[in-house]
Amino acid sequence: VIENLSDLEKLAVLGHGNGGTVYKVRHKLTMEVYALKIIRFGEDAGCAAKVQQQATHEGEILKLVDSRFVVRCYGVLDSALDDGGDMYFVMEYMGGGSLQDVLRTRRRLPETTISRVARSVLEGLRYLHGMQIVHRDIKPSNLLINGRGEVKIADFGVSRVVADTMEECDSCVGTCAYMSPERVDPERWDGDYSDGFAGDVWSLGVVVLECHVGRFPLIPPGQKADWATLVFAICLGEKMAMPESASPEFHDFVCRCLEKDWRKRGTVEELLHHPFVTRCSSGRLVVDNAF
Ligand code: ATP
Ligand code: MG
Repeated sequence: VIENLSDLEKLAVLGHGNGGTVYKVRHKLTMEVYALKIIRFGEDAGCAAKVQQQATHEGEILKLVDSRFVVRCYGVLDSALDDGGDMYFVMEYMGGGSLQDVLRTRRRLPETTISRVARSVLEGLRYLHGMQIVHRDIKPSNLLINGRGEVKIADFGVSRVVADTMEECDSCVGTCAYMSPERVDPERWDGDYSDGFAGDVWSLGVVVLECHVGRFPLIPPGQKADWATLVFAICLGEKMAMPESASPEFHDFVCRCLEKDWRKRGTVEELLHHPFVTRCSSGRLVVDNAF
C-alpha cells in the first residue's frame, strides 16, 4: 500500500475523464510503475468535503478488492487541503490502454476476441457482485488492458461514489449511454432483487455489441445522442444494430444481456456458461496480439 504522494514521480499523462486526469507514475523507492488517478472537486466546498468523505470510505473497500479481473487499487490519498482538495487513487498500471482506445483504432473486433473480453468482464463482475459491489459504470473506457493483453474492470467505486455524491450536489456527471432501462427509468425499478446487479449485465451487452458493429449500437449513426434520444432507445428501442455476420451464439448472448426486463435478463453465472463465452475461451485470458 502506497501512502505518500511524494514517493511517486509523474512520467506521463495517460488520459482525461470527466472527473480528473490519469498519470503514469513511478514509485521512487521500488521503481514500480502505477497509474495515478487525480480527481478534482468543484468549487462547491461543501460538496467536495462530502465526496471526499465518501470516496475515502470507498477507498478502504477498494483496497480489499483483489481479483485478476479487476484493476487493483493500492492506495487512496488526499491532498489534505482545507478546500476539499483533490483525491489520488494509486492503481495498477494497464499499459495496453482501454477498450475504447482499441475500438478507436480497430473499429470492429473478431468474435473470438470479443468472447474473451466478455469472459473477463463476467469473471470480474462475478467477483465484485460476490463482494456486494455493483459496478454501475461498465463501458469501453473502464475496461483496461495490460501489457499481457489481459482485460480488467476499472473504476468501480471511485467514479460511482463521486458521481452519486455530485449528483446529490446537483451537478450531473457521466453519461447514461450504457445504463440499463431500469436505471434510466426508475419507474421500472421495484428494487426487490439485489441492488442492481442486472444493470451491469446490460452494460456488458452494449459493450459487446459495440465491439462487433464498431460504433455505439443503440442509436443509428448520425443521430444526436441527447438524453431523451438515449432514454427512448434504451427503454423502448426494438431495433438493435445486430450485424448480419454475427454468429447465432453472439446474437443470443447479446439478447440475453439486452433483455429490457431485468428480471428476465441473463445473470452473470448463466452467461459465464453461455456457448458464446465457453466456445473460444480455452482457459487462456490473453487477448490476441493486436491488443
Ligand atoms: P469517465 O470519467 O467517464 O470514467 P474515462 O473512464 O475515460 O471517463 P478516466 O477513468 O479518468 O476517464 O480514465 C481516462 C483514461 O486514462 C482512460 O480512458 C484510460 O485510457 C486511461 N487510464 C485510466 N486508468 C488507467 C490505468 N489504471 N492504467 C492505464 N491507463 C489508465
Ligand atoms: Mg474511467
